[in-house]
Amino acid sequence: MDIVCPSCGEPEDLRGSRREGAIAMSCNRCGHRWERNLAPTCPACGGTEMRTVPLAILEKGRGTQLSVVGTRPVHLCVDCDRDTLERWQRNRPNPLMPDELPT
Ligand SMILES: [Zn+2]
Ligand SMILES: [Zn+2]
Repeated sequence: MDIVCPSCGEPEDLRGSRREGAIAMSCNRCGHRWERNLAPTCPACGGTEMRTVPLAILEKGRGTQLSVVGTRPVHLCVDCDRDTLERWQRNRPNPLMPDELPT
């Protein structure tokens, strides 16, 4: 976690307690308190309209067949990843296939 106290910039002497949908943070150095939202934000545009979708984890089986061995959640931005989200919506309830397939 790369969080610092917004008041004094302390990066380590911080305390966080998890609440529903957020983390209540407090700084042991200056006593500042703030809430850290757990909602992911888009690294590209900074937007908070994110969708969590399951991304397929593929493994090469016999021959050239790729099989889905599991999924992991990824956060997609409704603006930047619109095409990917549409692709996922079309294929539901299948997980999203990664752009680059292992060869
Ligand atoms: Zn502080
Ligand atoms: Zn975005």
